[in-house]
Amino acid sequence: MWVKLYHLWESLRRGPGRWRQLFRTRRARRGAVLLAGAGVLAALFVRAAAAPVGCANEDLAPAALMAAAAAQSRGGQAAESGAAGAQEKSPEKVVYLTFDDGPSATTDTVLDVLKEEGVPATFFVVSAENNAKYLPTLARTVAEGHLVGLHSASHRYSKIYSSTDAFWQDIGELQAAIAPYVPEPCTCLRFPGGSSNTVSRKYGGSGIMKELKAQAEEKGYRVVDWNVCAEDAAGGHPTVQEIYDNVVREVDDRASCVVLMHDTAATKNTAKALPDIIRWFKNAGYRFDTVDHLPAA
Ligand SMILES: [Zn+2]
Repeated sequence: MWVKLYHLWESLRRGPGRWRQLFRTRRARRGAVLLAGAGVLAALFVRAAAAPVGCANEDLAPAALMAAAAAQSRGGQAAESGAAGAQEKSPEKVVYLTFDDGPSATTDTVLDVLKEEGVPATFFVVSAENNAKYLPTLARTVAEGHLVGLHSASHRYSKIYSSTDAFWQDIGELQAAIAPYVPEPCTCLRFPGGSSNTVSRKYGGSGIMKELKAQAEEKGYRVVDWNVCAEDAAGGHPTVQEIYDNVVREVDDRASCVVLMHDTAATKNTAKALPDIIRWFKNAGYRFDTVDHLPAA
């Protein structure tokens, strides 16, 4: 970028007389440099402010999920196209609502909305300090027919991705913390940052996610990513309308949607957007389910 700016500067400086005239004085040159610098800083700021936490850049790569969704779509189409001249029928539409990083003060509100709308969801939970007080909410979550999945005890990337041992130790701590409220062992797991995140490389090397995914499979866990992101944990605290719009936009024409949302203290707007999000899926003909029923990839 600096090289480009330098070339631009040079071409302006050596260009037609009109430009030379404009940049002739030292003051004018200094002004132009300051202006360019301010532009660069503004661009960097906009990029940083727009980057959502939880499912952006280093976080998003739901390859396994996409494969599962594609398999489901293919399965539906294959079943319909068996007989010559048979009418084309679109595959069944299914939505899997998922909430990460709870429980928190927001979780009860989310559960109220789900109850009101009569739909199930999946909660990938955390047992960090902020969550400890709300862990009993998991008993209500289970009693109301929702699925609890494993996310992380600490959710600290530097700790959990420092080695595969550290990761499974953290999961063990989470299992122990939620055991009093979740009677059945959890079979679903969502890696913090997603299964193909690159943030883990910084702490555990480039192969750590591949290794962890293989180990998760050996241990019998279903690893669940997402293909629709509400971007509700973005730094700028998105509005209710923005969260709704993000979900609807990302659904596009997907028949199988795993929607990533959050039920943290900071994402109260998600709970407020949820009734309209659920109604949108209902009107579009989607069935609601929990991720343990996702078709195998
Ligand atoms: Zn998370």
